[in-house]
Amino acid sequence: MKVLFFRPRPHKETIGLQNVMICEPLELEYLASNLESKGHETVIIDMILEKKSLAYFLKLHQPDVVGLTGYIAHVNVIKDYARQVKAYNPNLPVVVGGVHAEVNPEDFESEYIDYIVRANGIRTMMDILDSMEGKKDREALPCVYRKDGPMAEKETEFNYLFPARDKVNAYRKKYYYMFHRNCSLIKTSFGCPYSCKFCFCRQITDEKYFTRTLESIVEELEGVPETEIYIVDDDFLVNRERLLTFCDMLEERNIRKKYLIYGRADFIAGNEDVIRRFKEVGLRAVIVGLESCDSNELVDYNKKTNVKINEDAVGILKKYDVECYGTFILGLDWKKEDFKALGKWIKKLGLVFVNLQPLTPLRGTELYEAYRDSFIVREDEYEKWDLAHLVVKPTNISARKYYWYTIVLYYAITVNPASAWYMVKKYGLHDTLKLSVGAFKVNLQYFKKLIQGK
Ligand code: SF4
Repeated sequence: MKVLFFRPRPHKETIGLQNVMICEPLELEYLASNLESKGHETVIIDMILEKKSLAYFLKLHQPDVVGLTGYIAHVNVIKDYARQVKAYNPNLPVVVGGVHAEVNPEDFESEYIDYIVRANGIRTMMDILDSMEGKKDREALPCVYRKDGPMAEKETEFNYLFPARDKVNAYRKKYYYMFHRNCSLIKTSFGCPYSCKFCFCRQITDEKYFTRTLESIVEELEGVPETEIYIVDDDFLVNRERLLTFCDMLEERNIRKKYLIYGRADFIAGNEDVIRRFKEVGLRAVIVGLESCDSNELVDYNKKTNVKINEDAVGILKKYDVECYGTFILGLDWKKEDFKALGKWIKKLGLVFVNLQPLTPLRGTELYEAYRDSFIVREDEYEKWDLAHLVVKPTNISARKYYWYTIVLYYAITVNPASAWYMVKKYGLHDTLKLSVGAFKVNLQYFKKLIQGK
């Protein structure tokens, strides 16, 4: 069968990190390689980078099935794509998957969607195609969502073929993450062994954590032509012995890449030798969920860190010239002084790259019900559940003030001569200007929110 996958373009309301990053659709590349090994044909269309319509690609490729995946902010976009597919051909089956569909499949209930994958995406997509070919009974497929149907048992190991990266060759040069140009994605583990209250990641694997073998990871890396590698594990810095062995294997096999990873502050603070070793074999940047400069808030979030640990972690990354991208949660009870205090602390640490997110109680997390009565964004306005919109009414200031203090904080950290000079010196004028244009676009979206006051 011929499967046409669309990677959705974000809704215009979504405050867009796509202005500072566009990454390859790794999940679709995995589907492509594994489905093709079973004799199917696949095509991936990246609608973030395409200008032509869905109908154009449907006509061009004449698929037997259409596959769509995305996150919470894409729900309405995906439903609209499904509507367009059915307008083109009412008999063309539409399959929807992705992390949001796995945790909240009912959000995709629609007359235009035929299958919602609620677990084990690759295996389930194979099963769906088998059922379409009459080899399996649709009603017996365990991981296809049915209203009031049983929960699906999620996989706890990942034994699939490497992703078919060549399927997005036409777009490859346009994929980047901030200053990491032409970066390729790799996933080496699933889930996270921690349990921060606000985090959606651990819901995806039903709170389980499992890893791929180092042998298969290194083998995959050997086959990736790009130098910049973005390891998209929820937390790559989990097991120091495993990391040290990974570094040795990179060296033994002469794999010379640059790595962008996610890692926790407590690991960095407690394992300086691992950071030093990883730097020797290519560690370039770590996205660290610092979350707060207030230890009480860190306790509230069940982050299992404190301010001292955060400061030590930032200091260690600086010492080894590893870029730190700090992510922070803005409390819903914050007043002007709290925004100011965070700004002061970030400046003290010398952080240049930050992501500021108002606390967002996503459905599936334990915070969701606690805040449900205070939502100021409707639950079906999925495009605004982007971790940048304020979705809960702040308790001490208006939404307008909240957006204003967020903008001021961003400006105070990033738009100043010291930060600009740092970026130009390290990454060059061209890349700095490009990132600044992207950041400016994000700011315009924030200004729009400020004017709307919600
Ligand atoms: S925030 Fe990070 S460390 Fe905490 S549960 Fe989520 S992925 Fe794990």
